[in-house]
Formats: sequence, structure tokens, C-alpha cells
Amino acid sequence: MRVFRFRPGPIHLLRLDRGDDIVGAITGYAAEQRIQAAWFTYLGAVSAASLRYYDQVGHAYSDFTVDRHLEVLSGLGNVSLLDGAPFVHTHAAFGDDQGRSLGGHLNRGCTVFALEVNLQELVGEPPVRLPDESTGLKLWGGG
Ligand code: ZN
Repeated sequence: MRVFRFRPGPIHLLRLDRGDDIVGAITGYAAEQRIQAAWFTYLGAVSAASLRYYDQVGHAYSDFTVDRHLEVLSGLGNVSLLDGAPFVHTHAAFGDDQGRSLGGHLNRGCTVFALEVNLQELVGEPPVRLPDESTGLKLWGGG
């Protein structure tokens, strides 16, 4: 286990615009505001979703898109540093018109219909994503 300690910074409430890209908009806001560490949640609706799933055996992503209107039942994510820039990592559960859910790791391509984000900025030394041999992922290093 690695532990990173922070003091709470400002809470940012964001209302994304129709047509925004979830990952792109939050990444852009973090870069513009110089936010290097944060945790966030969101809810709303998208007109399409672009997701990925990580194969823990093959260490490879499979990408898929859901070209339907979906509710965002629950979204969460964080901001840390990757290659010196704010990097957004976010997962969400979506629901369709029958109440069925699906979800995954968000790629760019999740198109906002309406979205409300609560982003808690964290003040302290930001976690830096580094290659992790055992998982094949870029995980928080140092600490
Ligand atoms: Zn992920």
C-alpha cells in the first residue's frame, strides 16, 4: 500500500455543457486551474458513451462504444499527474431506458447531455502515475 496525504482544497461544482466530452472537459478544467490532485463524482446523462475494459490476464484494453442515450447513474474519478500534466481517471455506471446498467472506464467520446460534477481539489504533493509491472497499468508511484 502507498499512502498520499492531503489537505482539502476548494470544492468545484461544474455544470458541463451539452455536447462536451466528459474526460476532455474535466481534463481541460484541471489543466486550466492547475489542479494536480483531486477526487470527483458526477451524475447526469450522456447521448453516447465510449468505454474500455482492462483484461487482467492479457494486460490489454478492449474499447467499446454505446451509441445510445444513457443516464449517468454514478460517476467517479480522480486527477493525478501523468508525464507532468493533470491526468483524469474516471469510471461510471450508466443506465438505459429499461433500467439496465453497464459501465466501465471512460474514454474520450462520452458525450454530455447534462452533467453535474463535484470535484474536491486536494492540496499536497500530487501522486504521479508510473508504469507498474505487475498490472501493466500506470499507477500512483512514490508516496
Ligand atoms: Zn480505469
